[in-house]
Amino acid sequence: EIKVRFAPSPTGPLHIGGARSALFNWLFARRYGGKFIVRIEDTDLDRSSRESEDNIVSSLRWLGMDWDEGISVGGTGGPYRQTERLDIYTRYADQLLDQGLAYKCYCSEEELAAQREEQLAAGEMVRYTGKCRDLTPEDCERLEKEGRKPVIRFKVPLGGNVVINDIVRGEVSFECDGIGDYIIVKSDGIPTYNFAVVVDDHLMSISHVIRAEEHLSNTPRQVLIYNALNWPKPEFAHVSLILGKDRSKMSKRHGATSIEQYRQLGYLPEAMANFLALLGWSSGKEQEVFSLAELGGQFSLDRVVKSPAVFDLEKLNWLNSHYIKTSSIERITELAVPFLQKAGYLSENVDDKTMEKVQLVVVAVRDYLEYLAQINDHVAVFFNDPEYGDPEAREVLSQEETPAVLRAVRDKLAAMPSERMDEAAAKGLLKKLPKELGLGGKKVYLPLRSALTGKTRGPELYHLLPALGNSAAIRRLEKALD
Ligand code: GLU
Repeated sequence: EIKVRFAPSPTGPLHIGGARSALFNWLFARRYGGKFIVRIEDTDLDRSSRESEDNIVSSLRWLGMDWDEGISVGGTGGPYRQTERLDIYTRYADQLLDQGLAYKCYCSEEELAAQREEQLAAGEMVRYTGKCRDLTPEDCERLEKEGRKPVIRFKVPLGGNVVINDIVRGEVSFECDGIGDYIIVKSDGIPTYNFAVVVDDHLMSISHVIRAEEHLSNTPRQVLIYNALNWPKPEFAHVSLILGKDRSKMSKRHGATSIEQYRQLGYLPEAMANFLALLGWSSGKEQEVFSLAELGGQFSLDRVVKSPAVFDLEKLNWLNSHYIKTSSIERITELAVPFLQKAGYLSENVDDKTMEKVQLVVVAVRDYLEYLAQINDHVAVFFNDPEYGDPEAREVLSQEETPAVLRAVRDKLAAMPSERMDEAAAKGLLKKLPKELGLGGKKVYLPLRSALTGKTRGPELYHLLPALGNSAAIRRLEKALD
């Protein structure tokens, strides 16, 4: 049975890289009818927080992922927070100690530092020397009487290699002698990542470990533990790093790194998920726009590329603007409201009439948006009457024919029975104007635009008129005529 997991350490918000790992696991499970688990790896007590965990969970949900077992949904393999599973790790650490496959190490920080110095000075590889490997029970007792608290180290086999057949990277081999006996349980009884992850992946019957390439060097350490405990190993798939456009490791310098930040800027979850899926995976076809359902039907690990994925913000913006343009107008309007409130265009409570106007504003500007926070760069003309400070607009307004145009439109609007015309009515009215006035289009539309907005460029007039409503349009025309 296919069973995969996302196992974040809750030491910060969910980042692009973590979200990509989560998504690949989720897609893999969906594609093959498997199960997806979310497990929280919080054994780094100082850096883990419930706040980060909550952020990760809500970001995953926002992106459209759900899980069959795990944190906040439960399941038979729980608990799903490693700090709630400490007795389980202790049991297996004790088993390794009993079998002579792990040992207690009493070296102090100072002693370890001195050992490192010596190795460096001798030009040797820096790793634990194995000093405590062969302590007798009497040695241990004596050291404990001195008040020393031991860590538990795994006895790495001498000589030989660990060979991993990674689904993405192919065969990767590590020399055991390069590894050094590593800590599996710290002196405070808390397991290390490399130990806890194996125990959990085994007990949770994980079939495939799909994670970031940065964990590849941990994998031999984990494989050795599977071997020692006589457990079957999962398949491994290490997904390439994500680089910035300048080919350096993705970092804050390249822009927002957390999913939360993108959400706050007004990126849509389906754009984000679509973008993340293409960070290291490709369908093999030209297609770039994918729904989650489509991705879940097509995703496979053999189309995950070995080379680094490049984070291309322009591509994300392109995808996001696509989803902004093609989503329902009601949804985009609802998402836009908080941005307009933040900028002071809307008050906290938006009544139905205002909502009607806001929706027409969104119709007018959404094609210009890469993300929703940008809406505030485009909407001033809808909410504030113009001041006519723009020289180009002033020039247009001072043309001889302009007053006649403005008056004609004002009179037409005033004669209308309802406050708002729709787009079709606006198009009809605008289309007839040049003929009626005996003027070229430019002599009509530019003055009208300048009078209504104080600018010579901006949203389509057939969007502007319905959004403004007739009384505001009339007021502006009169102001321009003044
Ligand atoms: N807790 C690890 C991390 O967040 C998980 C790595 C893994 O998937 O094994 O990097």
